[in-house]
Amino acid sequence: MSMNALTATTRNFRYASRLLGLDAKLETSLLLPFREIKVECTFPKDDGSLKSHVGFRVQHDNARGPMKGGIRYHHKVDIDEVKALAQLMSWKTAVMNLPYGGAKGGIDCTPNELSKSELERLTRVFTQKLHDVIGTNLDVPAPDMGTNSQTMAWILDEYSKFHGYSPACVTGKPLELGGSLGRESATGHGVAISTEALLNDHGKSIKDSTFVIQGYGNVGSWAAKMIYEKGGKIVAVSDVTGAVKNPNGINILELSLHRGKGRKLSDFNGGETMDPNDLLFQECDVLIPCALGGVIDSYNAGDVKAKFIIEAANHPTDPEADEILYKRGVVILPDIYANAGGVTVSYFEWVQNIQGFMWEEEAVNRNLHKYMKQAFNDIKAMCHTHNCSLRMGAFALGLERVARATVLRGWEC
Ligand code: GLU
Repeated sequence: MSMNALTATTRNFRYASRLLGLDAKLETSLLLPFREIKVECTFPKDDGSLKSHVGFRVQHDNARGPMKGGIRYHHKVDIDEVKALAQLMSWKTAVMNLPYGGAKGGIDCTPNELSKSELERLTRVFTQKLHDVIGTNLDVPAPDMGTNSQTMAWILDEYSKFHGYSPACVTGKPLELGGSLGRESATGHGVAISTEALLNDHGKSIKDSTFVIQGYGNVGSWAAKMIYEKGGKIVAVSDVTGAVKNPNGINILELSLHRGKGRKLSDFNGGETMDPNDLLFQECDVLIPCALGGVIDSYNAGDVKAKFIIEAANHPTDPEADEILYKRGVVILPDIYANAGGVTVSYFEWVQNIQGFMWEEEAVNRNLHKYMKQAFNDIKAMCHTHNCSLRMGAFALGLERVARATVLRGWEC
């Protein structure tokens, strides 16, 4: 069993705080969430009966700007997980130097058991309960696991009934409603850019490396496509239906066509099917977990064969596993940087909405590159100063920026 996400995140936070020598009172204030919201969401099902779910929004910090973070629909959503993810968003936006704080939300539900109209009613009820504490300059939700651009469109519509048309109150919207070109692919795109930056830093490149990708959803499929296009050899891929391996490399364009026809990954004939539980332990240079948190723990860290781990998922590696892997010389690119392409393009979307001017895709991608490269260099500089891992370098960078903004705004009176 991996460590609870909140315990793990808090442990990393405290370690980074000690590295920076933060004042104890400031440390406590940075750790505690600004506001925690728990709401009951009751909506009529298609058969007319009523169904209730619990929804959460944790607003962690707003020293650097409006709070920002996704909304997750998943049966494992609980307050501790949302608190951990909200905190990670504060450090993530700071690492990327975006003018935002951090937040996260979610509903404890199983989205594939709900019809589209049920999901719409649930989302509208959730928005009705949250509308007075979210908004363009307050807290800006976005998609996360189990939600998508359609969910954001419903939030926008419901929110606008109370506050007038407000396209910048939410990001990850459909293009027709003020979404940004390049937002759908942004997290996967950022994963590919950050992977290339890390490999280059070690004198390697994507085109001479082998990859294993866990999770072929929105993030994993885009990351796989971009890594494949840069010449990387992807030797195994998994999703909820199963896993496929091919030591000669999986043809990702064929896999994408296969999935596009609604077929299962496990039925793909461009490789051999394998037990998804063995995926993390395949021989490869780079392992990219793109699914759930806590998949690499102290029990299985010793079996990981990859030399590099790119955390496309949020908190896939718990701190005990982190230590084991660090001692073994495995280099981990932490989630708060590796998967930050999504929130970075969310920021570009918000800017476009406020400007009332849509950017070309080339401008979005060029700026994404710029932000990812700059953040990589900033993290490396922190690692150099504190002689620490990339995770601690990223945490220390995020914490230092939030701490500085907090103090500048006049924290002690
Ligand atoms: N849900 C994504 C994340 O965890 C994106 C958040 C956003 O765009 O605000 O980073």
